[in-house]
Amino acid sequence: MDTLQVAGMSVPRGQRALGEVLAGELPDGSPIKIPLIVLNGRQEGPVLWLGAGLHGTEIPGMEVIRRVCREIVDPQSLRGSIIASPLLNPFSFHQHHMLTPQDGYNLNRVFPGDPTMLLSHRLASLITRLAESCDVYIDFHANPSPALQFTIIKHPGDDDLWRKCQLLAEAFGITTIEMKQMHERHRTGTFTDYVQLDRRKPCLVVELIAWRRFDPLSIRTGIRGTLNVLKHLGMIDGEIEPQEDVPIIPGRLSRIELTANRGGLVHPLRLPGDPVRKGETIALIRNPWGDVVEEVLAPIHGWILAWPLLGNQAVATGDILVFIAFPQ
Ligand SMILES: [Zn+2]
Repeated sequence: MDTLQVAGMSVPRGQRALGEVLAGELPDGSPIKIPLIVLNGRQEGPVLWLGAGLHGTEIPGMEVIRRVCREIVDPQSLRGSIIASPLLNPFSFHQHHMLTPQDGYNLNRVFPGDPTMLLSHRLASLITRLAESCDVYIDFHANPSPALQFTIIKHPGDDDLWRKCQLLAEAFGITTIEMKQMHERHRTGTFTDYVQLDRRKPCLVVELIAWRRFDPLSIRTGIRGTLNVLKHLGMIDGEIEPQEDVPIIPGRLSRIELTANRGGLVHPLRLPGDPVRKGETIALIRNPWGDVVEEVLAPIHGWILAWPLLGNQAVATGDILVFIAFPQ
């Protein structure tokens, strides 16, 4: 295959091309487009998907894709191809909101979508078609700080495919959360569930930090990890670089998330990376008068992974408070 065809673009070998695909229209008819960056390497190799912005508030992956695809990787020396989109949900990006404003759905819970349903389902369906020809997938997300950076892989019920996912995470080189026993019952509608369960392809979810900003550590970690994956896949030359300046929790880890019972301002008592013991108080929730309304206890021995408070420093009942990593 000399010329790569993606969404109406024809990209010859050794070339980079920029394109776009229509995602829908606003009420005044204004077209809204998903941007695409395609690199067709001079030599044969795998086709890698790089996607960011399924949640339009999560900015770091957009910059990682720009640096990797526009500045660092040269299609003349690339083996295989990269199909990348830095902004997969422009509607949520416009509103600085994690969900699609038009229908209130989390785009990353409705895959594989449906081209006749609501906007989020249509976007999901379009993205599955754009990504259809890829062999390996990286999906960039980001948590609010303070958080550690980590990757997520899920067991797809197939040991060969699982091993490929583990090797992607190992190459990326940061804390890895393994989610086990995944099968149809655990299908959550994420893009990567679709890729693994329907297309049987390896994929990696990357959770960077400082979700709304360009944090130097976050961007550097994302770029280095992505280049490590390209090296692991044989797409570019070079040694895999350890993520030496990134705090990492070693070993094989799972994750639990705790949600708030009471509403109020959150005072974390432990930082990301800190070890915690079962029963230890890890945060206080105070009402606006300053009274403690909830003591948050660690339900397990492990490490604080993130305080992913999606609003400000406050929570309402049921809001996600904390991710805790624990050894398997
Ligand atoms: Zn996300």
